[in-house]
Amino acid sequence: MTNSEPKVGISIDIEADGKQFGHLSVPHSRNESGWGALHLPIVCIRNGDGPTVVFTGGNHGDEYEGPIALLKLVRTLEARQISGRVITIPALNFPAVMDGTRVSPIDGVNMNRAFPGRRDGSVSQMIAHFVQHRLLPACDALFDIHSGGKTMMFSPFACYHRLPDEALTRRARDAVAAMAAPISLELVELDADGMLDTAVENMGKLFVGTELGGGGTTTPATIAIAETAIRNLLAHLGVIDEKPLSREARGLSPGREMHMPEPGCFLIADDAGLYEALVDLDTDVREGDPVGQIHFPERPGREPAVYRAGTSGTTIGRTHKVLVGPGDFLALIAHDR
Ligand code: CA
Repeated sequence: MTNSEPKVGISIDIEADGKQFGHLSVPHSRNESGWGALHLPIVCIRNGDGPTVVFTGGNHGDEYEGPIALLKLVRTLEARQISGRVITIPALNFPAVMDGTRVSPIDGVNMNRAFPGRRDGSVSQMIAHFVQHRLLPACDALFDIHSGGKTMMFSPFACYHRLPDEALTRRARDAVAAMAAPISLELVELDADGMLDTAVENMGKLFVGTELGGGGTTTPATIAIAETAIRNLLAHLGVIDEKPLSREARGLSPGREMHMPEPGCFLIADDAGLYEALVDLDTDVREGDPVGQIHFPERPGREPAVYRAGTSGTTIGRTHKVLVGPGDFLALIAHDR
């Protein structure tokens, strides 16, 4: 057994044609189950040759559009409808999804900082290791569906990264455009190390993502955006024999193409207290405009600390939680491209 051979097993043959519901088996010996394993659902749908697209939801366990849209996908998509292969993990951090928490309740690991994973690591690290060494080499494209979770709220966007590989950047931008979300964002990460995104891109493969709503819930609109993005990506890549359905064809306003050209796009807290947002999402602000303020409940006589836009643009993300502390994300401001 080589060192890259995952300890995680898989109950289905992802080389086989047809639709298979199976699970990953992650060793998880514990008080309640001495020889136990964690079963993590995976679905493979294959029909002959064609691209392999991997869909992941529940990378963070309190982000629900991905798991719900992907559960709907795997129940309705049949092998005869596709050319190629669709591998779906609706709840990548399965213990976190079942616990309603961002990170795993088993090992406290943030799945999206765990890549490339560890063969002999904790449960989350072993899952990441399996994805890194078994799924990524087999895939052509990966779509990781995120939302704001319990602590953040976003104006729904699909996203890609600007990469040193310009051709790959262009492919990702084209794929995101086809996904037809209200906003197509060239996203800059605060900390890209350890992310699934980075693992996929480092292999030279196509990565696309989303941030859809948040607050630990879903809306009919955010679920619809996820489902359209999934369907349109499969159409764009030729896995299903359809044309991507544009926003215009669905009677929707044209999408916005946005980017984050400067560090001032992120607003981060320096103070601990109660955050009051002064502008809502989708608001145009000028650099220096007040975006929010932090109140000090222990010192009623103290004026709140005002937080101002570090750049001119549109607010497309904000904290959902009110009780904030130094280093917490407060707001995201993006520019039209
Ligand atoms: Ca997330």
